Amino acid sequence: MSDEYVDVFTCVKCRNPRITKSARVVKNNAIIIGKCLKGHPFNLKLPMEQEHKWIGHLRDSVYKCRCGMPLEEHKIKVGKKKTQLVLKCTKHKQVTMIDTLLWNTISADREVQKTLEQGYKPEPYKVGKEPKKYEKDTAKTKKKETTEPRKWQPY
Ligand SMILES: [Zn+2]
Ligand SMILES: [Zn+2]
Repeated sequence: MSDEYVDVFTCVKCRNPRITKSARVVKNNAIIIGKCLKGHPFNLKLPMEQEHKWIGHLRDSVYKCRCGMPLEEHKIKVGKKKTQLVLKCTKHKQVTMIDTLLWNTISADREVQKTLEQGYKPEPYKVGKEPKKYEKDTAKTKKKETTEPRKWQPY
């Protein structure tokens, strides 16, 4: 993530994060509309040729609720041109419209992030957890085997 665009998602009036309500692509620019946490409206025009520089900030801005809580995906309707995201925090429901072009980049990004977090493994919940358990179990049984018989040795 580049810092060049970090400030565009910060309110100029109150320095609170800006929450994206809608994002669409018009010609070579992304037009992003929303409000900051305090309700100050904003309207951004970001060049598509630099998408990689600001898309991460846009994603953060999309997945943040107006109350400041992180949003979870509830329902995603991917259309040809527009994608509707229904997102929820613990208290609120937010509907965000985003250009499918932008959504494709964000969702691809999220997949990469997930893969990175999971350590490049296709089925991490199986590969990651089982060996650990197994190691613990063998460690326990090994200890028992080495300590207990000594106690009962007759000499
Ligand atoms: Zn503000
Ligand atoms: Zn909320």
